[in-house]
Amino acid sequence: MGDTTASPRLGTLIIGNCQAGVQLASTLRELGDTDPITLVGEEPHAPYQRPPLSKAFLKGEATADSLAFRSHDFYREHSIDLVPRERIFRIIRTADGGVATAESGRTFAFARLALTTGAVPRTIPFEGSELEGVSYLRTATEATVLEQQLREARNVVVVGGGFIGLEVAAGARAAGKNVTVLEAAPRLVGRAVSEQTSEFYLQAHRRRGIRVVLNAQVVRFVGEHDRVTGVELGAGDADGSGEIVAADVVLIGVGVVPRTELAVQARPRGRKRHRGGRQGPRLRRAHRGRRGLREHAEPVDRGLRRRPHPPRKRAECRRAGQGGRGDPARAPGRAPDGAVVLVGPGRPQTADRRAEWWA
Ligand SMILES: Cc1cc2nc3c(=O)[nH]c(=O)nc-3n(C[C@H](O)[C@H](O)[C@H](O)COP(=O)(O)OP(=O)(O)OC[C@H]3O[C@@H](n4cnc5c(N)ncnc54)[C@H](O)[C@@H]3O)c2cc1C
Repeated sequence: MGDTTASPRLGTLIIGNCQAGVQLASTLRELGDTDPITLVGEEPHAPYQRPPLSKAFLKGEATADSLAFRSHDFYREHSIDLVPRERIFRIIRTADGGVATAESGRTFAFARLALTTGAVPRTIPFEGSELEGVSYLRTATEATVLEQQLREARNVVVVGGGFIGLEVAAGARAAGKNVTVLEAAPRLVGRAVSEQTSEFYLQAHRRRGIRVVLNAQVVRFVGEHDRVTGVELGAGDADGSGEIVAADVVLIGVGVVPRTELAVQARPRGRKRHRGGRQGPRLRRAHRGRRGLREHAEPVDRGLRRRPHPPRKRAECRRAGQGGRGDPARAPGRAPDGAVVLVGPGRPQTADRRAEWWA
């Protein structure tokens, strides 16, 4: 499959070549699918693990190549056509599948389509967001830039006391930087952990010399010569009182927004947006042949509803046959629901799949 001019035989097109996409492609092969599989993604790298980006990568202990999920040989041996650097912007559905078009003009015909387009960082539109030194962290390219900036920085401010923000803060502090974490909520990692665990994180970070401001209200980023120099807090903040916190680097980690644009575009006309929960048989029939996994938030699959963060999404991870937080030791799981549906009845299916878990 893949480029419509290259091969007339249609198979599965997976848009989004990261964890969910790679896992789906390899599971389809494990389940006995012999149809063509094309895994297309906009990033320049072969599919790689994101979790180390805020950990080993920032310490200079990993590269995008070393984080690859699989070797190029794996994709070749399993006849998975890996297509990087192609951003799909249009999907046209036909009676027997459809065609996806990339911004380059390249087209990909498919019999079955899976959207594993993941998420992008939630942005905050404050004045000064465009200043050099203000960044987000999602991709290896962004991590490379951030790693260089951190190396040269003295004062680091992290906006958002979630997992990624705290990991970056801890790494920067270990490298000897002055680090401030600005969290808008009254506690750290508030959407994912209990109050006791939040308190534990708070004390652990403060003990290591990180300044943590809770109930912080960021007003704007200030800078000189297009470079960030500080973060202004709202007057009356619990700790800030209108001060400007010095910053050479600002990392914003305030959650992610699921990339639903292709799913919205490809959904059957006249159908109402589905927001999770059980679907009626009509909606399920309408979505047959099109699957969404993991951080994709248009849950076209029963049971694959989006969960906010790893500790809450273990069951989902198991269902999807892929990782959550924890030791990378392998834990029991099941084949991705999407993979089972894509392979179809009557094909080989394994009941005792194993899932990978992230450190
Ligand atoms: C810094 C960092 C640290 C993390 N740490 C942990 C951790 O410790 N534990 C944990 O469980 N999780 C962690 N996560 C989250 C974890 O990495 C994600 O849950 C996981 O990457 C989701 O995988 P995914 O395949 O669903 O989506 P994504 O990783 O978002 O991949 C989707 C891919 O689709 C591509 N794409 C999207 N739209 C298009 C399009 N139209 N055309 C072509 N390509 C497209 C994107 O470029 C992207 O490469 C971390 C994430 C980050 C960023």
